[in-house]
Amino acid sequence: MFDFYPEVNLSREDLLAKIASMVKKSRFEHMLGVEKAAIALAQKYEVDPHKASLAGLLHDYCKEVDDETFLALIDKYGLDSDLKNWDNNIWHGKVGIYKMREDFGLEDEEVLRAIEIHTVGDKEMSGLAKVLYVADYIEEGRTFPGVIEARAVANQDLNQAVAFETMRLVEYLAERRLTIYPQTFEAYNAFIGYLS
Ligand code: GDP
Ligand code: FE
Ligand code: FE
Ligand code: FE
Repeated sequence: MFDFYPEVNLSREDLLAKIASMVKKSRFEHMLGVEKAAIALAQKYEVDPHKASLAGLLHDYCKEVDDETFLALIDKYGLDSDLKNWDNNIWHGKVGIYKMREDFGLEDEEVLRAIEIHTVGDKEMSGLAKVLYVADYIEEGRTFPGVIEARAVANQDLNQAVAFETMRLVEYLAERRLTIYPQTFEAYNAFIGYLS
C-alpha cells in the first residue's frame, strides 16, 4: 500500500477522505476494488503500481458530479462540443479529468489520460490505461455474467483482456439499443485482432 501520493500532494488517508466525500459508499468500495485489481495487473504486466493505485482510486471521482458542472467544464476548457451530446457515462472520465486537475492539482499526464479513457478505451492505450480499463471491469465487486471469463483472460494477456472487454461492451450496448461512443469503436477495431 502507498502512504503518500506526490502527484496530488496528499497522504493516502487524506486522499481517501476526499474521494469518500464525493461518492456513495458502494462506489467508494468499487474504487478500492479497482485499485486492488489495478495494482495486481500492474505488477503482472510491468506497469508502475503506484500510478495504478492512484488511477484506480480516482477514476470514478466524478461519477456523481451533476450534468451542469460537466457542461460548464466543456465550455471552460473548450472541449469538443460533440461531448454535449453524451451524458455522465462518458463525461465522468473524459471531462472529469479537468475537475481532477482543479480539485487535486493533478498534472500527471499518464494518470490523467488513463482516467480520461477508462470508460471508452482508445485505439492507442498506455500500459497504465489498459490496466485501469481492465481493472474497472474485473475488480472483485463485479458480479455480471462473463466476469469470471474476463478475469481469466486478464490473467493471460493484457491486450486480449482489453479486446474481450471492448467486445462485450459493444455487444452489451447494441443489445440495449444504446448509442456507442465513436472512440469505443476505435478501441474495438484496434484491439479485436488480439482475440482471433
Ligand atoms: P463505472 O464508471 O465503473 O460504472 O464503469 P465505466 O466508466 O466503464 O462505464 C460507465 C457506463 O458507461 C457503463 O454503464 C457503460 O455501459 C457505459 N458506456 C461505456 N461505453 C459506452 C458507450 O460507448 N456508449 C454509451 N452509451 N455508454 C457507454
Ligand atoms: Fe467509470
Ligand atoms: Fe469500464
Ligand atoms: Fe469504475
